[in-house]
Amino acid sequence: ETGREMLSIEGLVSSYGQIEVLHDVSLRINSGEIVSLVGANGAGKSTLLMAISGLQPLDKGQMTFEGKDLNRMAVDKRVSNGIVQVPEGRQVFKDLTVYDNLRLGAYTRKQGPEVQSDLQKVFSKFPILEQKRENLAGELSGGQQQMLAIGRALMAKPRLLLLDEPSMGLAPLIVEEIFGIIRELKEEGITVFLVEQNASQALALADRGYVLETGRVVLEGTGRELLSNEKVREAYLGM
Ligand code: ATP
Repeated sequence: ETGREMLSIEGLVSSYGQIEVLHDVSLRINSGEIVSLVGANGAGKSTLLMAISGLQPLDKGQMTFEGKDLNRMAVDKRVSNGIVQVPEGRQVFKDLTVYDNLRLGAYTRKQGPEVQSDLQKVFSKFPILEQKRENLAGELSGGQQQMLAIGRALMAKPRLLLLDEPSMGLAPLIVEEIFGIIRELKEEGITVFLVEQNASQALALADRGYVLETGRVVLEGTGRELLSNEKVREAYLGM
């Protein structure tokens, strides 16, 4: 069902050792939305995604996913509940084939016809991955590795897809392609939380967005509101 609250984060505080990097962060993601999180290098965007995935501990705060308490849910349980992250810098397994990378994406699932059919769907979305299925992931271009990272996440059957800087280091045309794919995923019913330094494109794509500055949410609104916000334009769009 579209529009229902899917993920809620209240008062999240998180640190690396003694250094607190997220301060009282609250946000929500409704099912069916693309929500973009923009902010400068070091603002804490990746840390927030890792906290949602369960890879970064919380000092304080409450996270719920479809009404379930996330705080005490193990990482693999979050994945099997549909929370799947595409990490910054792709992090595909470079010494494994494309095919094996995709199969690893389905590690939390029972192997069977459904996984096979999802593999076919990934291949039809990314024909290049089918062509290169026996190639090592490390032989792919940056854009192809990003597609593989997204394809691998799709093999986990995400309902909330967490994308960390998918456009990083890619040429403009490839970025367009990746953003087009994100739009398609939304049309297929996947809810997307998109972390980007590329604020203009991320906000143009988003239903709603948040701006994170040194570990705090300083602005929120619809994508359009944020794109026309004076502060956003100056600080993140270079206008
Ligand atoms: P980037 O776009 O560079 O990934 P970001 O907004 O995602 O930036 P984070 O990577 O979440 O920011 O980093 C937030 C802060 O935490 C930064 O000051 C960073 O230096 C610090 N930090 C990140 N990872 C660690 C770590 N493993 N140990 C200590 N400090 C860290």
